[in-house]
Amino acid sequence: MTPFRVVVADKIAREGLGPLASDARFEIVERPGLKGEELAAAIADADAVLVRSATKITRESLSRATKLKVIGRAGVGVDTIDVDAATERGIAVMNAPAGNTIAAAELAFALLLARVRNVAAADRSMREGKWDRGALGGTELYRKTLGLIGAGRIGSEVARRAKAFEMRVLAYDPYLSEDAARAMGIELAPLEQVLREADAVSLHVPLTDQTRGILNAERLAMLKPGAILVNAARGGLVDETALVEALKSGRIAGAALDVYEQEPLPADHPFRSLSSAVLTPHLGASTEEAQLNVAVEIAEAVRAALLEGDFSGAVNAPLVGGERLQRLRPLLDLATRLGRLASVLVDGAVTEVAMLLR
Ligand code: NAD
Repeated sequence: MTPFRVVVADKIAREGLGPLASDARFEIVERPGLKGEELAAAIADADAVLVRSATKITRESLSRATKLKVIGRAGVGVDTIDVDAATERGIAVMNAPAGNTIAAAELAFALLLARVRNVAAADRSMREGKWDRGALGGTELYRKTLGLIGAGRIGSEVARRAKAFEMRVLAYDPYLSEDAARAMGIELAPLEQVLREADAVSLHVPLTDQTRGILNAERLAMLKPGAILVNAARGGLVDETALVEALKSGRIAGAALDVYEQEPLPADHPFRSLSSAVLTPHLGASTEEAQLNVAVEIAEAVRAALLEGDFSGAVNAPLVGGERLQRLRPLLDLATRLGRLASVLVDGAVTEVAMLLR
């Protein structure tokens, strides 16, 4: 059997590719850093392509990919992949949603602590030769309210850490059940209530049409005077111009940001000159552990997709996997055989398939 050709189009830790690299049924081709025509050529005869965040899979890069079955992203967001173009060509897009969770939650918490205790400002001041204890006093998290927007994998880990600091956790997440929230010690509340009551608000939603600009000027104005905003989710969630205004006017006490509308953050961006903002360059997933976790997670998902037809982790296909897939497999096999038979019985290409359900 010809091995499945898996093109690794970004730098991904070799040990993380173990589930594919250790099996002769896969041929790993490492081609990091390509774009345009070169990328299209590299994946033209691939069965799968793996990316991290540097390489963008555009409609053009898929134009010649006639064998491609799956695009695997070693990370959570799939915004570097043209998912619509992939779907149109019947290519599954899979991500590694769990491997980054702890890394991202710990960074959100580190940002929150750094901001409330002036860690970054104190460090800057020490390096300037000062000993400025008077100007660097902070506030405590103990018994304060943390407002979460989104309490999925990362949000709930942030909540768990907040509980250890004896904070009250309020969350806006319309898809989280009361029972699940209660089990995590989280109170669910409408967005406006979260914004009005929280001492610190931390965003943990994906960037979608519904969440883009979820913290616009009007909503930022609902924050308590003196509140802190943490964003380690995605840049487009917050109206940056409105946030700069809220920080400049001192209406909110500070922001701690890991993600930005435009990345890399432009050198002259106003955030860079605001001392009440703590900034990191999209480091949420940048731990040794997370990089390995996401690589293994996506390598396992791609392996299951190519060997077993298990596309349950695809973000652009209905969820069929595990036991359900096992039960459906004979029917899928039957459908494949009938399709093959039909293709030799009809003249020309099949243009329409109708199913009669009884
Ligand atoms: P998740 O899917 O587990 O959780 C997202 C939560 O948001 C879910 O509970 C969902 O119900 C909720 N949600 C969806 N739409 C909503 C809406 N309109 N309003 C309120 N809640 C809504 O995702 P996760 O693993 O927790 O990741 C959250 C985000 O963190 C990711 O989408 C990614 O953008 C970001 N992230 C950033 C980094 C980084 O490097 N800074 C690393 C990992 C993840």
